[in-house]
Amino acid sequence: MKIPLSAPDVNEEDIRAVTDVLRTSRLSLGPKLEQFEHAIAAYVGASDAVAVNSGTSALHLCLRALGVGEGDEVIVPSFAFIAVANAVRHERANPVFVDIESDMLNLDTSRIESAITRRTKAIIVVHTFGCPANLEAILAIAGRHALRIIEDASEAIGAEYKGRRVGVFGDAGIFSFYPNKQITTGEGGIVVTQNPEISRFVRKIRNQGRDDPESWFQHSELGYNYRISDINCALGIEQLKRIEPILMRREAIALQYSHILGRRSEFKLPLLKVPFGRISWFVYVIRLGMQFTQLDRDWIVREMHLRGIGVGRYFAPIHLQPIYRHWATLGTLRVTEEIAPRTIALPFFNHIQSDQIEEVCSTLTELSDFASNMEKKNVNRQKLRTQSPGG
Ligand SMILES: *Cc1c(COP(=O)(O)O)cnc(C)c1O
Repeated sequence: MKIPLSAPDVNEEDIRAVTDVLRTSRLSLGPKLEQFEHAIAAYVGASDAVAVNSGTSALHLCLRALGVGEGDEVIVPSFAFIAVANAVRHERANPVFVDIESDMLNLDTSRIESAITRRTKAIIVVHTFGCPANLEAILAIAGRHALRIIEDASEAIGAEYKGRRVGVFGDAGIFSFYPNKQITTGEGGIVVTQNPEISRFVRKIRNQGRDDPESWFQHSELGYNYRISDINCALGIEQLKRIEPILMRREAIALQYSHILGRRSEFKLPLLKVPFGRISWFVYVIRLGMQFTQLDRDWIVREMHLRGIGVGRYFAPIHLQPIYRHWATLGTLRVTEEIAPRTIALPFFNHIQSDQIEEVCSTLTELSDFASNMEKKNVNRQKLRTQSPGG
């Protein structure tokens, strides 16, 4: 790819920190793990943080810690990364998909209550693309129905809701540090919480259910190996030191895209500001107008790839995936199904250059012009066909 969809931002200090760990004998459960956990907890304002080997593992352990089990229901968006539903099923619980609202693409809070049943245990609130969800409304619903809240802030480190960083509003929050996220550990994730019972439990379960890391053969719970190495944590510590310039750089890239594409009415652009907080830019996702079909979008994506520009289809709805297609949904997820086939995630990474952004925009507009002309021709052809006598 000439211009990739995403690229990690690893500098010489990051590399030095990682190689320094390799010169020690503490590659796992060492001082870098503790330091990383403290740094993340302090940054988001949580009383504790437990680092694990992925965001998916973090979600899974939160559900386990909250006692979500067989037959329980967990409300999740379908317009999200598949791990959100998979983690629920790993505990033999059932994801219940709720539609999103069309501006910020987060859960439509007006649709949550009608999805609640006697079996509902929790809501997974995803801060989609780094845009803070309406936490007050969701916490009020959770309070009325005694539900637990997990914030999936994998895409939203540093995003703020009414002046506080996301991740600490519910019972637990999680972050992912996969290489396409705002900051990375290569692979990694973390659970943040204000509840010492949750952090104690998660710490135990990530390490084979050991009562404490010292008593190596004392297991009181069915655990996993979800540990993250100190090598990864050293990278995370360095990355977190630069988070503010990283978030500002990413916002500047989003502004530049919107400045160039804003003149074109065929695109719906992401909101640059939200009423209740700060966006942490994860990806820049445009939506094609209603005159475009999924075929147009897929053709544009293919053509951009052929020209060396990495673009993505964020997200393919979870409830339409082959492994979820037979899952019952409450009515249709109209907004999800309308928006998902028209999204295109544009190349978005810290060191993207202005001329690359311009090339992405000019290629995109050229291809969408072509697609909409084709569309018009097809419509005319169809009209001719239906109007032709005897047709
Ligand atoms: C990236 C992501 C995850 C999980 O991340 P991994 O670290 O790849 O397991 C979970 N939820 C959302 C919304 C994500 O974007």
